Amino acid sequence: MTKPAVGRFAPSPSGRMHLGNLFSALLAWLSVRAAGGTMLLRIEDLDPDRCRPEYAEQLMDDLRWLGLDWDGEPVWQSKRTSLYRDAFDALSARGLTYPCFCTRAQRLAASAPHRDNGEPVYDGRCGRLSPAERAARMETRPPAWRVRVPDRDISFTDMCRGLYTENLLRDCGDFILRRSDGVYAYQLAVVVDDGLSGVTQVVRGSDLLSSTPRQLYLQELLGFPAPRYAHVPLLLAPDGRRLSKRDGDLDMGALRARFSPEELTGKLARLAGLWDGPVSPRALVPCFSWEMVPRHDVVVRPEEFG
Ligand code: GLU
Repeated sequence: MTKPAVGRFAPSPSGRMHLGNLFSALLAWLSVRAAGGTMLLRIEDLDPDRCRPEYAEQLMDDLRWLGLDWDGEPVWQSKRTSLYRDAFDALSARGLTYPCFCTRAQRLAASAPHRDNGEPVYDGRCGRLSPAERAARMETRPPAWRVRVPDRDISFTDMCRGLYTENLLRDCGDFILRRSDGVYAYQLAVVVDDGLSGVTQVVRGSDLLSSTPRQLYLQELLGFPAPRYAHVPLLLAPDGRRLSKRDGDLDMGALRARFSPEELTGKLARLAGLWDGPVSPRALVPCFSWEMVPRHDVVVRPEEFG
């Protein structure tokens, strides 16, 4: 018997949701509901500099307004620090982490850009410090902490994008698990949370495709089974830029003022290749299939939403 599907919404409450967030949320919801599974909501509010509770309340209201529901109570990452600490301590006890004293400027200078997303690939220099150098630097500034990665290819088959492979050392480098201000990194928190809540499928924007090999590696180290992944197309403005929270005209405030939930769902469903015309998310469940969803980013003409 196959395990029941468990999916999740994992929004960061750092602003009002926009069309692109909603597009990913609709596909995540459809994928789980079409499999008769459970949908969880996790508020990814780890970064106190960027996240606000008002945004979290707002995004829950926006999801409900569209007709995207979830099961059980939302989980707040900001309340789960001790779980991330346990995982971090377990990796450290196995000698897999090291302190990194590089400033942002040094980090960038010590890096080559990542092949897919332009993020810096760290060259591991703080991992080569002697115990004496490390102890001396500990006196000067609080370090960030990185996990060491092996020279190994990690591959997985994405439900939307197909086969994806990265070499951990060359394409990612040793990556941060805990920032110098003590905040645990997204890569660690997401693995702990998906693992502990039994998530079997992760549907999210393809900007996170290149995070997945790092997450698969941490799952393996921490003994969690790997979920299946679907990295859905990003919505782009006609000039090729990614739609973002800065595109105020396509945020949920503006969209809710212009459209009914069915009209907006219909427009999203058309971009996803699923439907044409006003429709509710619930009515789309029987016709959902990953086969129909485009593999590549989708250009949105603002007039369609104006
Ligand atoms: N919190 C992330 C975001 O809003 C999503 C993380 C995930 O789905 O793994 O972009």
